[in-house]
Amino acid sequence: MAKKKLIVQKYGGSSVGNVDKLKNVADRVAACAKEGNNVVVVVSAMGDTTDELIELAEQINAYPSEREMDMLVSTGEQISSSLLAMALHRKDYDAISLTGLQVGILTDKYHTKAKILRIETKRIKKELNKNKIVIVAGYQGITDEMEITTLGRGGSDLSAVALAVALKADVCEIYTDVDGIYTADPRIITDARKIECIAFDEMLELAANGAQVIQTRAVEVAKKYNLPLHVRSSFEKKEGTIIMNKNANIEDPLVSGVALTEDEAKVTLCNVSDTPGIAAKVFNELANENINIDMIVQNVSRLKTTDISFTVLKSSLRNAVKKSMELAKKIGSGEVIVDEDIAKISVVGVGMKSHSGVAARCFSLLAKNKINIEMISTSEISISCVLKKSEGKKALKVLHAGFELESKKGSNKK
Ligand code: ASP
Ligand code: MG
Repeated sequence: MAKKKLIVQKYGGSSVGNVDKLKNVADRVAACAKEGNNVVVVVSAMGDTTDELIELAEQINAYPSEREMDMLVSTGEQISSSLLAMALHRKDYDAISLTGLQVGILTDKYHTKAKILRIETKRIKKELNKNKIVIVAGYQGITDEMEITTLGRGGSDLSAVALAVALKADVCEIYTDVDGIYTADPRIITDARKIECIAFDEMLELAANGAQVIQTRAVEVAKKYNLPLHVRSSFEKKEGTIIMNKNANIEDPLVSGVALTEDEAKVTLCNVSDTPGIAAKVFNELANENINIDMIVQNVSRLKTTDISFTVLKSSLRNAVKKSMELAKKIGSGEVIVDEDIAKISVVGVGMKSHSGVAARCFSLLAKNKINIEMISTSEISISCVLKKSEGKKALKVLHAGFELESKKGSNKK
């Protein structure tokens, strides 16, 4: 008899958002088990449970301790995993739900953003050997001191990927409320096309630049262990998008997708002295505050001073501005200007590695449509531009059409 396949399936919050949806997930899991597979399921908390728990905490204490936050938010996944087990029992399938502690998902001690160090596989294997479906509460782990930790928002993706790696799973499926990765956010670009197969690096760029289907860290880990991921809909049967290791190929389209984010703000330090060590000082001090900088632009100086602009997530803007003002005083530079009214568009594709002129085409498309570019940054496979916020969606449309990413007639209907 052929060896049983081991399949890890992860269901996101929107897929288990209410009782009917949980029952739908139970049907899908049961079908997979019935085909003769070993199934390990990872679930997120139901719907907006995590957000609601965070709000609740803030009503009690504006600065809750991170340890207690983890105690609180980890309950969300315990609810969905136990309910899913009950739904499977109801269908006469043997299933058991397990917390991060019961599995042995060992993490470091950094509450609310813990990193997984190791995963014990003994308990899960024991349950699988008893022919049980194993349901694991996502997003959570345990330290060696038995403290409950969580893995950062969207962390159930990471739980699933890490479990699939540890268990040497044959397949890792990420079920969500969309049917795959698109050439652009289909809520903005109505003729965006579903991508059948995308490279890890492309997915990382898209995720870091606004695409929200899958957690960036989960993709990084999948890439590191070369574990292909299948992102697909929990409400439909059709195949989704495979994220995998793909070598750049001359046949690749120049651009695989475009993304838009409005989550960043721009900070400019004016009239900074143009001497060695200034940039090091500025960005070291910001890094010491754990402020993540995305783009940086420094102008060429004419009169021995220059302006340095950088972008940060709006969530760390307050901190970044405070630090920048202190720095400006210290280094004797000019004023600090903040611009929250920006958007960033990114054009991503491994095809850029083997073709030149993609940046020029991108800028020409924007120019033709009278869209002004404020900042530019590039990597081997991406070009990002900062624009006025009001032009973000228009720019996304212009680039999506300009690089001919829209669906060819019928090609996205499988
Ligand atoms: N429930 C957690 C969150 O909302 C983890 C997840 O959904 O992956 O961030
Ligand atoms: Mg979620």
